[in-house]
Amino acid sequence: MVRIFFQRNKCIGCNACVEANRNRWRMSRKDGKSNLVGGKEKRGGIFIADVEDEEYRSNLKASKNCASKIIIIEKIK
Ligand code: SF4
Repeated sequence: MVRIFFQRNKCIGCNACVEANRNRWRMSRKDGKSNLVGGKEKRGGIFIADVEDEEYRSNLKASKNCASKIIIIEKIK
């Protein structure tokens, strides 16, 4: 499994995460920030989602290309 951490309040809406994985990231029409599909909000406005290993590379790309560096990807068991 792969754990995705996302600090949504610092998103500037650059769309790089959506380009990396269109199923996992989606731009909000309400506030122009990205949404982590399947993510649950934890303390401090951090959203977390646990996803399958197949998504590791695409979400790592989202993390690397994110303009605000607010996506962290971690392999978990
Ligand atoms: S890549 Fe980062 S800053 Fe850009 S829309 Fe996605 S989360 Fe927001």
